[in-house]
Amino acid sequence: MKYISTRGQAPVLNFEDVVLTGLAADGGLYVPETLPHFSREEIAAWAGLSYEELALQVITPFVDGEVPERDLKDIIAASYRSFRHRAVAPLVQTGHNEWVLELFQGPTLAFKDFALQFLGHLLDYTLKKRNQKVVVMGATSGDTGSAAIEGCRRCDNIDIFILHPHNRVSDVQRRQMTTVLEDNVHNIALQGNFDDCQNMVKASFGDQSFLPEGRQLVAVNSINWARIMAQIVYYFYAALALGAPHRPVSFSVPTGNFGDIFAGYLAKQMGLPVQQLIIATNANDILHRCISANDHSKKALVHSLAPSMDIMVSSNFERLLFDLHGRDGAAIAHLMEDFKSGAMHLSEAVLAEARQLFSSYRIDDAGTVAVIADVFAGTEYLLDPHTAIGVEAARRTRRDSAVPVICLATAHPAKFPEAVRKAGQTRDPALPRHMADLFEREERYQVLPDQLSEVQRFIAANIRA
Ligand SMILES: *Cc1c(COP(=O)(O)O)cnc(C)c1O
Repeated sequence: MKYISTRGQAPVLNFEDVVLTGLAADGGLYVPETLPHFSREEIAAWAGLSYEELALQVITPFVDGEVPERDLKDIIAASYRSFRHRAVAPLVQTGHNEWVLELFQGPTLAFKDFALQFLGHLLDYTLKKRNQKVVVMGATSGDTGSAAIEGCRRCDNIDIFILHPHNRVSDVQRRQMTTVLEDNVHNIALQGNFDDCQNMVKASFGDQSFLPEGRQLVAVNSINWARIMAQIVYYFYAALALGAPHRPVSFSVPTGNFGDIFAGYLAKQMGLPVQQLIIATNANDILHRCISANDHSKKALVHSLAPSMDIMVSSNFERLLFDLHGRDGAAIAHLMEDFKSGAMHLSEAVLAEARQLFSSYRIDDAGTVAVIADVFAGTEYLLDPHTAIGVEAARRTRRDSAVPVICLATAHPAKFPEAVRKAGQTRDPALPRHMADLFEREERYQVLPDQLSEVQRFIAANIRA
């Protein structure tokens, strides 16, 4: 499979190179040159497959011989072995034809484990084959950092450096990162905010001369194609469990960077019968404004009870825009240039097609808390605030109650005790057993000033030979 940039000016890459590349040289994002398509019969034949077996079927065409089937099988097995639930992605019913897909059974209790466990094992495999060592550098406001660290901690050919804003992530989130003590794992608590962390990472990717000879940086943020690809699998898995392809299903997705729901869109393009794809946003609602009112303009960031969705601009939206503009890279380059002014206007035709594909809804903090309380009252099932936004958006926008709606549960409620308490719970939700001692574990991290030279010196000094 070949991969092309959404802005049309970067080199065409094969699968392994695209995994190591991140952002394309022209500023665009890589997408497959053509999308595989599965017939109804093929999908129906997958009904009895385990999560791992299904993953092999869905991922194989994207890898297209670059990773032999036996190796891909091993990578998948290793990636999902660390999940606590045998079904990997179990479904729980929360209402009439309303289901929650628990994507938080992985090691860090958020759906990002699906992609980052896979990416970690895939990188390890690729780098060993090439006899190459790399440095993973990333910024996190919470969930991505711990999932990336868990994905890379056992990779011999990776040194990983994750920057988080000092004193601005929750205790659970910080400890999930800083209690990993492998000597290739380094947490930097930057004396700044999340934007400062991100700027530092961007500057370092732009000029990598601070690294030792022969090393390069690899990005594990959600623009990495392998992350999106791994996420397509659970859309097929959940839909098959509820009767697809013989009947359609809908999905509601708590959305930030548009990576997760973009994977759902791809599943639909690949042949899965999906009726509605619901973009659920918090107060940071650029995508909801775009779909509902053609207002894709940057607004000041709001800190919500669902912090993993607190983002101003959704970077993966560009991948959808590329398709909606007939895969015309020049048109996207132009559009993104315009967006530097802070706003982007879609043509009527593009907007109509986007509305055909997506519904959207915005839920504020009060609404989030109300759904957690309502679902608990009706089922004794506790939602995390991100998932709650998805459930409420589904209830508000659902067109057909005969079609099952699957709400993606992106995090375990124990990660976000503040929202849960506001919803009337008198005790913090318990951490799952494997993490019950999180607050007794030893932590290791380095506090550094918001200064590029200091951070780069620290990284260079800690890369293993
Ligand atoms: C990252 C994250 C999201 C948003 O996912 P995107 O792919 O960025 O849209 C939602 N919920 C939780 C808990 C997350 O960690």
